Amino acid sequence: KSESSSYTLLPKVQKFLKTPKKLFIGGRWVDAVSGKTFPTYDPASGEVLAYVAEADKEDVDKAVKAAREAFENGPWAKMSPAERAKLIWKLADLIEENLEELAQIESLDNGKPMAVAKVADLPLSIDLFRYMAGWATKIEGNTIPFSLASPEKFVAYTRREPIGVVGQIIPWNFPLLMAAWKLGPALATGCTVILKPAEQTPLSALWIGELIQQAGFPDGVVNILPGFGETAGAAIAAHGDIDKVAFTGSTEVGKIIVKAATSNLKKVSLELGGKSPNIVFSDADLSVAIPGAASAIFFNHGQCCCAGSRLYVEKKAFDKVLEGITEEAKKIRLGPGLDPSTEMGPLVSQEQYDRVFSYIRSGLDEGATVVTGGKRFGERGYFISPTIFSGVNSSMKIVNEEIFGPVVCAIPFEDTEEIAPVANQTIYGLAAGIWTKDISKAHRLAAKLKAGTVWINCYNVFDASLPFGGYKQSGWGREMGHAVLDNYLETKSVCIQID
Ligand code: NAD
Repeated sequence: KSESSSYTLLPKVQKFLKTPKKLFIGGRWVDAVSGKTFPTYDPASGEVLAYVAEADKEDVDKAVKAAREAFENGPWAKMSPAERAKLIWKLADLIEENLEELAQIESLDNGKPMAVAKVADLPLSIDLFRYMAGWATKIEGNTIPFSLASPEKFVAYTRREPIGVVGQIIPWNFPLLMAAWKLGPALATGCTVILKPAEQTPLSALWIGELIQQAGFPDGVVNILPGFGETAGAAIAAHGDIDKVAFTGSTEVGKIIVKAATSNLKKVSLELGGKSPNIVFSDADLSVAIPGAASAIFFNHGQCCCAGSRLYVEKKAFDKVLEGITEEAKKIRLGPGLDPSTEMGPLVSQEQYDRVFSYIRSGLDEGATVVTGGKRFGERGYFISPTIFSGVNSSMKIVNEEIFGPVVCAIPFEDTEEIAPVANQTIYGLAAGIWTKDISKAHRLAAKLKAGTVWINCYNVFDASLPFGGYKQSGWGREMGHAVLDNYLETKSVCIQID
């Protein structure tokens, strides 16, 4: 019995939770070779939701064989781009048909409010698949005029070809959306996939496996292997017959992936951590900037790689903004994700809860002031109240390290010219926010910030068409937009002597 049992689960969700959760390999649902399973928990109560087959190296080997066969010889290899596009679009339609159910699953497994899953995770995932379906038919090479030889001597052109068998390893903060970000471009380009969801949140990926089957993708095109990072994840990263690994997760594990990938020098793309600066000028519309700054950090309980966790406020407006964001933090209603009145759910796991608390303790030990929050909420589950620190300095751990929880450091600044180097003082470079009515100042600053995304007078705005990714230790390559296709394509030059 889980906390969520006090809410009505949709019949399909109830049935799904009761059926054995297997691995999806070569178009079939199979047990792990070891026969092992692992529990996935409801973070609102800490109780087990379901047991899931646990993939390890031998299962990865099986999945790679299936994906290789599908890539080289199966119907996928001969399929026209338009047919591929149709299948991807069909998958988007099926996700849409299952929107309520998937939102419940996401809420149960991850803890996020169901309402958030319905307006963010699900529509963004559906749109991503539709956007990528459009790209399947628009992948083109070029004809290349030679620079040294006469135009009569050679004809040359490039082909853009799918990179091959791709391993994809994703985190737990947006389980379905991260799967969509990975699967969409891989399928649009004609690759085949071994997807490993995070061990904390394997359920929505397994549901997607069923929809992939229903949509009619050929066997082996997508293989889904729940399991742990050090076993299944490591086997994917090191596998000699995987051509590329796409990873989203922590910077620490990203470095492990890069080392493992040297086994066969597979291509690597990485979406990693962040410690994003969110900069509020005194000339901003504070009635928008204050709730914007609160949402920048507290959306998804701060478990966003791009969370605005360093809030820089121009000194003249500091007290007002701090007071405003404190009010916003206090208003946020915490509770189980399935409760329709919940605005913030529990953190995803005991481990994450302990990690965030250790940062709160470190902030206090280093002399920072908790303006609000910093406490456990309720008796059960992994709830932490939205937390704001002030009185921090640039050497503190809470200012420099990614907390990945609902914790923000509010920091005053005086000099507009000085804020770019201060904001850039981080190993990360994923995102940044700027709040001002002076649009020239905003553009000038946007150019100086070393971040893959800069939001001006908004935050956490995503679109399938807009590339997302990191400078510095926030990653390699971009997700979304047409930029992501490069992660999944090789360029082949074909050169013909005609004279
Ligand atoms: P994590 O790095 O611990 O785990 C992410 C994934 O990697 C999981 O599937 C895990 O099983 C796997 N993994 C762990 N160790 C592995 C290993 N040795 N070899 C192969 N795979 C391994 O990260 P997390 O705690 O699940 O997620 C939080 C992190 O993800 C944060 O740092 C966050 O910023 C980052 N993130 C980044 C983005 C982005 O787009 N940049 C998006 C979401 C999350």
